[in-house]
Amino acid sequence: MSSGAADVLVPVAVVLFGLVIGSFLNVVIARVPAGESIVRPPSSCPACGYEIKAYDNIPVLSWLILRGRCRNCGSSISVQYPLVEAGCAALWLAVYWRFGGLGWEFALSAVLLAALLALAVIDARVYRLPNPIVYTTFFVGLALVVAATAATGDWNRLRDSLICAVASFALFWAIAAVGGAAFGEDAMGFGDVKLAGVLGLYLGWLGPRYVVIGLFLGFLTGAVVGLAMRAGGKKKRRDPIPFGVFLAIGAFLGILVAEPLADLYLGRL
Ligand SMILES: [Zn+2]
Repeated sequence: MSSGAADVLVPVAVVLFGLVIGSFLNVVIARVPAGESIVRPPSSCPACGYEIKAYDNIPVLSWLILRGRCRNCGSSISVQYPLVEAGCAALWLAVYWRFGGLGWEFALSAVLLAALLALAVIDARVYRLPNPIVYTTFFVGLALVVAATAATGDWNRLRDSLICAVASFALFWAIAAVGGAAFGEDAMGFGDVKLAGVLGLYLGWLGPRYVVIGLFLGFLTGAVVGLAMRAGGKKKRRDPIPFGVFLAIGAFLGILVAEPLADLYLGRL
């Protein structure tokens, strides 16, 4: 394959695979919070129970062709389905561009962002970060950072990854404890604390600067949006904030801008 053809075919493959994984994330989002199996039964229309055929299960395309309706009963199918599929493909394409191709950086970022997409949608809907997803993401990440370290031979990166995982977990645990003592309420859920540890593991392998900038941007967006919603009367003081959504946004932004930001900052010293 000439490099010209690869320049087109590889990103196209990244997008197609991202769409398929996005379709799987929809199953995870719909079933895991309810404690249902993600393997069986096959997907069916929630309104009429009609089993969704393979030709009606093509990411994004099927939803557009059926105009967001069930083929059998015509009841509407949430736009969340094509959005999650397209979103996963877009995230994968973004990190493919960011790292200039396929490699361990792409693999770690793609797996992390797919998991965070599912967790963010669930957190926004039910204010929970289900343990099965958080733990699975952690152990897959552990296997990936060990494999990536063995492949690259740079053992400092495994050390950084593990230290960042423990440090992020401890930092968020301390914030949750202090917040709880200060406000007499759950400032931050324990799901957020565990998720911070997972971010530290993945982003720590990319480099400690990714963890610092990713967690900081997560805090910043969460604080700004949370305060804006309270000021706008959309949220009361005691209403929960789905902080996992902002951790996910921070991680994505961190992956995109950590390196250029750090270079800019260090270049000025
Ligand atoms: Zn139906």
